[in-house]
Amino acid sequence: MPLTILHSFVGAATGVSFYLLERSLAEKEIDSEALKRSALIGGIAGALPDILEPPLHRWHRRFFHSYAAFAAAAVAFSASDSFEQLDEEARLAMRTAIAAYLSHLALDSRTPMSLPLML
Ligand SMILES: [Zn+2]
Repeated sequence: MPLTILHSFVGAATGVSFYLLERSLAEKEIDSEALKRSALIGGIAGALPDILEPPLHRWHRRFFHSYAAFAAAAVAFSASDSFEQLDEEARLAMRTAIAAYLSHLALDSRTPMSLPLML
């Protein structure tokens, strides 16, 4: 469980960084409430793989910790521009969550157990 907390902190940092980068590139103002929301979304999404597949044993990494999930998240991230029913705030929240989720998988991929391809 301590690593899940680390993933949550890294996810929150990813959410904040993603928000600041997105606002900077769009040359828009930083909203402190949106910044806090990005940290919260990132913190939850960063821990999400371990919430879905709790690290109770060495072999807990299944689909939600897999390279297939990584690829699906990356595709959803890049396709989010075409989700016309999402307003700007919802799209930003979705991208923040995906970026934080990917931070978890990126960190886990660097461990000796790495990630399974699919399951
Ligand atoms: Zn994990």
